[in-house]
Amino acid sequence: GSGGIGKGPVICSAVCGNPYAGLVSHLRAAWLSGKTRPMEYRVAQLEALGRFLDEKKQDILEATAADMGKPSFEAYFTEILLCKNELNSTLNNLCHWMKDEHVDKSLLTQLDCAFIRKDPYGVVLIIAPWNYPIHLFLVPLIGAIAAGNCVVVKPSETTKNSERLIAEMLTCYLDNDCFAVVTAGVQETTRLLENKFDYIFFTGSPSVGRIVMTAAAKHLTPVTLELGGKNPCYVCDSCNVQNTARRVAWGRFFNAGQTCVAPDYVLCSAEMQEKLLPALREAITEFYGPNPRESPDFGRIVGDRQFQRVQALLHSGHTAIGGQTDAEERYIAPTVLVEVQQDDPIMQEEIFGPILPILTVASVDDAIAFINARERPLVLYVFSSRKEVMKRVLERTSSGGFCANDTIMHMTIPSLPFGGIGQSGLGRYHGRSSFETFSHQRSTLLRGAGRETLNTPRYPPYAPHRLPL
Ligand code: NAD
Repeated sequence: GSGGIGKGPVICSAVCGNPYAGLVSHLRAAWLSGKTRPMEYRVAQLEALGRFLDEKKQDILEATAADMGKPSFEAYFTEILLCKNELNSTLNNLCHWMKDEHVDKSLLTQLDCAFIRKDPYGVVLIIAPWNYPIHLFLVPLIGAIAAGNCVVVKPSETTKNSERLIAEMLTCYLDNDCFAVVTAGVQETTRLLENKFDYIFFTGSPSVGRIVMTAAAKHLTPVTLELGGKNPCYVCDSCNVQNTARRVAWGRFFNAGQTCVAPDYVLCSAEMQEKLLPALREAITEFYGPNPRESPDFGRIVGDRQFQRVQALLHSGHTAIGGQTDAEERYIAPTVLVEVQQDDPIMQEEIFGPILPILTVASVDDAIAFINARERPLVLYVFSSRKEVMKRVLERTSSGGFCANDTIMHMTIPSLPFGGIGQSGLGRYHGRSSFETFSHQRSTLLRGAGRETLNTPRYPPYAPHRLPL
C-alpha cells in the first residue's frame, strides 16, 4: 500500500519527523563503505535483475494486464525485452565504460598521471510513472547500478499490481543494504524529496518535473527529468501512405496511447488527409479487428481520472474514425479526429490516450512554423520519401529525438541517447548515456612526490624577469 518501504532494513527516525531519513542514511552508510564500487559487485546485481526478468516474466505480464489491460505482446516487448536489451548492452560494455579516461597533459605535468575517473554519485533517487511501470524504473536502475550507486526506487502508486511486484522484487533479487523500494503517493513522495540525495532521476509529467527540480534545488542535487508533451508527426505528400498509416497507428494506439513517445498529432496537407484516413481505418481494422474492444491486443486507460480526462478530449474537432467509449472498462476506441483547430482543448495538453487528431497545413514550412510555435517535443516524427524534406525538418526544428518514417523505434537502440529538451526534459539515458548520467566525471591528477626542482619557478619569491611583460 501507500507509504510503505520495501522489506529492506529500515530505521525510521521519528525524532526528526522525517520518515525516510533512516532509510537514506542507511543507504549512505552502505555507499560510503565502498561496497557498490567493484565491477564484480555491479555485475552481480545487474545479473540479478536479469534473473528477475526471466523468472518473473509471467508475473510482470499479469501485473501490467491487471493494472491497465496491457496486451501481453506489448508488455513483453517493452517491459521485458527492451529491459533485457539494455541489460545486455550494459553488461557487455561496463568494463570498457568504467575505465579511467586518460587525457592530454601540459608541459608541467608531463611525467604525471591525469585522467577522468567515472565516479558514482552516491545515493540516487529514481521516481517512475505508471505507463510502463517496469521499464521506466528498471532501465534507469540498470544505469544507476552500473555506475556504482546506491538507489531508492519510487514506482508509481497508480499501477498497484506493478508497484507491489517491484516492492517485493528488489528485496528478493538485489542487495537490501544498497537498494530499496519506497511505495509512496504524492504526500509521502513530498516527504521523501526533503531528504538529500546525490542525484534524482525523474520520469513523469512536466508539472511534477518542476516540483521535483524545485525540491532538488534545495540541496543543489543534480537531476535528470524525462518528461512528456505533444510529439508532432509531419506526414509529407510524398510518403508511402499505407506504411505511414500502419506505423503511425501502431505508435499512437500502442498501450492505448499512453506512451511518452507516441505521435500526438498529425500535420499534413488536405490532400494527404484524404488518403491517410482510409489507410488509417484499414490499419486499425487490420490490427484490432472490426471491434477493437474485443481485441486482446488493445489496452485500457489506467484509471478513472485519466479516463475522464482523455474522454473529454473527444469533443475536439470531428470524429472520423472510432470515438466509442465505455467508462466501466475504461475503454476508448482507437480514434481519429479531423477538422481540429489549434485552440481546441486536444491541442492544449499531451493526449496520452488513443486519439489521433489530424491538422492540415499548406506546406512543410507551415508544419515547421507550427512546430516551432510550440514547446519543444520529446520526439519529432516525419514521414516522407524525400530526403530533402526530412533534412529540412531536422535542420529547422528542435526536439529531444527525431525519427523519420517510423514511430517509437528510435528508443529501442541503447546506443542512441534518449531524453527531452526544454519542456520535454533535461538530460538523457539508455546505454552508455545512462552510465554517464549516473557517473560523476572526477578530474584526477596523480603527481610524483619528488622532482621538486621542477616546481621551484612557481613558488615565491617570484622572479620578476620570468613575467612576459
Ligand atoms: P506524474 O508526473 O503524475 O507522476 C510521476 C511520478 O511522480 C509518480 O511516481 C508519482 O507518484 C510522482 N508524483 C506525482 N505527483 C507528485 C508530487 N506532487 N510530488 C512528488 N512526486 C509526485 O506522471 P504520470 O501520470 O505517472 O506519467 C505520465 C507522464 O509521464 C506523461 O506526461 C508522460 O509523457 C511522461 N512520461 C515521460 C517519459 C519519458 O521517458 N520522457 C516516459 C513515460 C512517461
